[in-house]
Amino acid sequence: MQLTVLGCYGGYPHNGIGTSSYLITSGDYHLLLDCGSGALLALEKQLSPLQLSAVLLTHYHHDHTADLGVLQYEWQLAPGAKAEPLLPIYGHTADPLNFGSLTWPDSTVGRAYNPAAPLTLGPLTITFIPTHHPVPAYAPRITETATGKTLAFTADTAVFDGLTDWAQDADVLLADTNFYADHQGPAWHLTSTQAGTLAQQAGVHRLLLTHLPQTGDLQQLATEAQTAAGATIPVEVVQPQFIYKI
Ligand code: ZN
Repeated sequence: MQLTVLGCYGGYPHNGIGTSSYLITSGDYHLLLDCGSGALLALEKQLSPLQLSAVLLTHYHHDHTADLGVLQYEWQLAPGAKAEPLLPIYGHTADPLNFGSLTWPDSTVGRAYNPAAPLTLGPLTITFIPTHHPVPAYAPRITETATGKTLAFTADTAVFDGLTDWAQDADVLLADTNFYADHQGPAWHLTSTQAGTLAQQAGVHRLLLTHLPQTGDLQQLATEAQTAAGATIPVEVVQPQFIYKI
């Protein structure tokens, strides 16, 4: 299984890099995990958007869905062979208005996932945990069925106890790390220290920091997370277009 980072900022794009969007590839199956701003331009460097197998959305905040509309237009209007007659977009139904927008004529079809049940998408098996966020959001734990390799993606979340069990022993923990350790005030995302502590307590094999802040020194963000995670867990800030093998 491969993880390609397409966009990694939280909230809004910055310096030519978009917001949350990731390509998960297993064999010839290509899953777009969230579809933030700039996702299509970034995806084109790896794969024609018409070759996606499916899209999975953690929640409907704009920084995770901004490019959905133009993805639907591309599947409607662009010439070329498509991987599927209609692109399936998997989303939760706790927000019916946004879920309804996932279907577009001759282009895409919205498919509901039940967060309480495993979801099989091609070679991947996905389970979910509801996160702590201002809108309904679900963190997917993605397992490549054939190898058992696992990517745990926190989606957007404040820290809560259930995260540790959910992330247990993951090969890669991809963590919403929107804040530096000294963040004050309300937080709907993890701090660097919380992400590192989660990695350490869950015994994950690698920690990748994403949903990044546009300010400050990202090396400091990584250092703070590394300190909390301990020396044995590799910690790094994700790099756009980098392919992580899981
Ligand atoms: Zn969010």
